Amino acid sequence: MVSGGVGAARLLRGFHRSVDELTAIANVGDDMTLHGLQISPDLDTIVYTLADAVSSERGWGLEGETWKAMEMVTRYGGEDWFSLGDRDLGTHLFRTQRLSEGATLAEATAEIVRGWDLHLRLLPVSNDRLRTMVTIDQEGARSEISFQEYFVGRQHDVDVTAVRFDGASSARPAPGVLDAITAADRVVVAPSNPLVSIDPVLSVAGVRSTLAARRESVVGVSPIIAGAALKGPAARLMTEMGLECSAVGVARYYADFCGTMVIDTVDAALAADIEALGVRCIVTDTIMSEPGVLDSLCETLLH
Ligand code: GDP
Ligand code: CA
Repeated sequence: MVSGGVGAARLLRGFHRSVDELTAIANVGDDMTLHGLQISPDLDTIVYTLADAVSSERGWGLEGETWKAMEMVTRYGGEDWFSLGDRDLGTHLFRTQRLSEGATLAEATAEIVRGWDLHLRLLPVSNDRLRTMVTIDQEGARSEISFQEYFVGRQHDVDVTAVRFDGASSARPAPGVLDAITAADRVVVAPSNPLVSIDPVLSVAGVRSTLAARRESVVGVSPIIAGAALKGPAARLMTEMGLECSAVGVARYYADFCGTMVIDTVDAALAADIEALGVRCIVTDTIMSEPGVLDSLCETLLH
């Protein structure tokens, strides 16, 4: 699966129950260094979700988390805009230590996955530095900020004029990434944010062309339902970047590498427009929080 964070993690949870060999190629454009710690939000969201340890209320971080370390950071006037729970901090401590010892991000991630007894191969798309940077416009004043400053710091409540992936020109795919795409029976593009979750993955050398070579086996799930995202800035960003904010817009954006698009039942009327793009369209229920939908969606994606 080509994946971002929450949307991808929810779908991976279904496959984790039913598929023996499961690989996720995950976005690292959201990664950051804070308090000297290496933080990989999308990797951790996937691990915590598959481990049934994710906070059901927030969708990220751990259930039953406490925030005592953050209280100390606040006390000292430190950077407390990005909340890190006490248990979650242990993950970042471990990752940071392993990276400082010379482990790659993929190696540290595999160790974290093992620590939760998951049978998932979780590959950061690259071991190299890749950072999503967002140009925002505040009453005519433009500035470029990191993805997390945009997403968490500003609560994505600000106009965006451009998105770029710093480091993409030199980032190499992590070992196994391209082979996994080539060897998979089926490649699923998660219902993740096209512009800030999937695009950074595609920006790494060879990923897009390797997917395109498997186009007939690549199936995307639209994160846009009835013209809106279930959560987050996907809809607003698509409009700001000049894309049609609909399942058709997603299908058009992915058409060069994605031969089939799964769209929600409420968007059934859009199927003909998607087929007209040369993309096969499957209409089914895709809201994974609804009873029975996750398992049936996984079934549909495999057949
Ligand atoms: P992030 O990296 O944590 O921001 O999450 P992703 O980029 O992986 O996923 C965010 C997207 O997932 C949003 O655009 C949502 O619309 C989409 N999403 C979340 N849950 C569902 C779901 O149950 N069904 C579908 N179709 N999309 C979902
Ligand atoms: Ca993310």
